[in-house]
Amino acid sequence: MIRIKHLSKTFNNPDGSKITVLKDVNCEIERGEVISIIGPSGTGKSTLLRAINMLEPPTGGEIWVDGENIMAKGYRLDKLRQKMGMVFQSFNLFDHLTVLENIIYAPMRLRDVAEADARKEAMDLLAKVGLAQKADVYPSSLSGGQKQRVAIARALAMHPEVILFDEPTSALDPTMVGEVLSVIRQLAKDGLTMLIVTHEMRFARDVSTRIFFMNEGIIYEDGTPEQIFEHPVHSATKAFVNRIQKLVFQIDSDDFDYIGIDTQVKQFCHKYNLDTKVELIYAVTEEMLFTHLKDVRPLTLRLTHAALSGETALDFMMEGATASPLPQGPAMDGIRAKVKQVVEEPTTRGFRIKILV
Ligand code: ADP
Ligand code: MG
Repeated sequence: MIRIKHLSKTFNNPDGSKITVLKDVNCEIERGEVISIIGPSGTGKSTLLRAINMLEPPTGGEIWVDGENIMAKGYRLDKLRQKMGMVFQSFNLFDHLTVLENIIYAPMRLRDVAEADARKEAMDLLAKVGLAQKADVYPSSLSGGQKQRVAIARALAMHPEVILFDEPTSALDPTMVGEVLSVIRQLAKDGLTMLIVTHEMRFARDVSTRIFFMNEGIIYEDGTPEQIFEHPVHSATKAFVNRIQKLVFQIDSDDFDYIGIDTQVKQFCHKYNLDTKVELIYAVTEEMLFTHLKDVRPLTLRLTHAALSGETALDFMMEGATASPLPQGPAMDGIRAKVKQVVEEPTTRGFRIKILV
């Protein structure tokens, strides 16, 4: 359905310099495939999506859609717009139109659908994304998750052959990520062809037929979710999919900045979608720092989260220590009952208590 050959994109900066963002992208996408595009930021994922639907005309290479070269002179872009829907991180709804008007706008103008038919279909689409009761409100009264579901309904109203999603959940409050991902999951079940740029690794693994790992302006590695996540060939792919987010604090004395730590831990949890664990992390940290390890200073506190495995750990590390400073007996039973695991182990530089939450 889509074939991309040696695609490149170079931007001219205002100061006269150039930046080549897409170097040599090659791929083929079959009808019905769900492809997640993952990779570090700044590697050209958004530029690739924008090039594929000619929002950002490429500077070299070819893009073939349904057997036609869309970069050829004379190719009609309105035809492409109808075949390819796009859903943006920032929703891009028309704020001066109601939800329903947002959805019927393009079908009435570009597909010549009669208003009554457009409205009827829009209501069906709103029901599909769970927002039938919101037809007559303005986007400003909706939550981010609701706005994004309207944006998806609007894209579907054009009966596209493929929808391109550019980080559809990145601008959302973590509590709303799930509702949008479940709509996309349903579209995947319906057999819609989709290209999805996402940082939600577990979603990508579950929903995709193939994964493109983009790095340095090329598709660095592509394969099934199992290949990319379990057996990546390249070390850059391995490092990316197994990457771990970290937050580290050095606690030297008793008058450390507990409020500051608390605030950063909450922000970290929010950013990495760990809101459900924040209370537990807070309780464990407080009990460890102020009760069980109150005489152990200096101490390094580290919070880590592995996106793919979903494993979250709190490490309390003591340089130079040779044995566990924890009290023996039932003192730790309260914590042990609440967490997944408590590991006490020597490290190369001292001793560590690792608590998996
Ligand atoms: P990603 O989506 O993978 O984070 P992008 O495709 O947004 O990456 O951007 C890749 C690179 O291209 C970045 O370095 C970005 O600054 C640059 N870039 C994107 N759009 C433009 C533009 N219109 N002009 C100049 N540079 C751009
Ligand atoms: Mg991007």
